[in-house]
Amino acid sequence: MKQIISPLLLIISVTYIQCNTLKAQTTELTAQELIALIKEEVNCEWQKETVDTFKAGDPATKVAGIATTFMATMEVLKKAKAQGCNLVITHEPTFYNHLDDMEPLERDPVQQAKLSFIEDNDMVVFRFHDHWHRHRPDGIYTGVIQAFGWEKYREGMEHKFIIPKTTLKELGYFIAQKFGTHTVRVVGNPDMELTYVGMVLGAAGRQRHLEMLNKRGIQAIIVGESQEWETVEYVRDANELGMEQGLIVMGHADSEEAGMAYCAEWLESFITKDIPVKFISAGNPLWSPEQFK
Ligand SMILES: [Zn+2]
Repeated sequence: MKQIISPLLLIISVTYIQCNTLKAQTTELTAQELIALIKEEVNCEWQKETVDTFKAGDPATKVAGIATTFMATMEVLKKAKAQGCNLVITHEPTFYNHLDDMEPLERDPVQQAKLSFIEDNDMVVFRFHDHWHRHRPDGIYTGVIQAFGWEKYREGMEHKFIIPKTTLKELGYFIAQKFGTHTVRVVGNPDMELTYVGMVLGAAGRQRHLEMLNKRGIQAIIVGESQEWETVEYVRDANELGMEQGLIVMGHADSEEAGMAYCAEWLESFITKDIPVKFISAGNPLWSPEQFK
């Protein structure tokens, strides 16, 4: 009896699970429901205090398509609309400050026009920052390390890399070429030889920059952005004091965007195929007058 019932129960429970998953995936999903799937899928606990919240639009809107991006810029929003993606998942803020506090610019024409565009086109913007970094392995680093082609040089799970011997200027040039930018900035001796490099993407701040820079053996760090009077001046002084170090400031967007391209792949792995997922590049907004010479 036991032998007969067990397989039967198994079939019933498998069918039940399949029906449940199917139900979640085939009915039209609202932005709220879709974000709930993301909350289930990340392998870290969802934080009570987080910037990963809806920033504009109605979470009850049915999702026709999803666009992931580094930054929900006006250009990205227009492209998302043109491609039928009404849910935009952005890594960084939409309204020009970390908490997307809209009050200081409440009457500002830029903020107002951006918000109107989102609302008038029934779009929804959600920020996916904290938990994409907390997910293991960190979703942003996974995508960026792939873009660098540096998986093979990685040392352990920290963001340290033993790369073939190069110089600081060659490494800066490699990054400029790789990301098509004219605004990579470097501090330190251009001819400094190095093999041991740390990555601290985004705007992680002085403390995390220096923690990585002062790890045993690390010769240079690659960062997204830095306060010019903090890490930049520390590295300048270190070199003047005979402690050779290198700092490469590659730009915040270039330093993290590949992680949101990877986010689109990750979403496709568990979201119904009925909802298209696209990555839309925000790109690096900075240019240099040098490039027009
Ligand atoms: Zn980030």
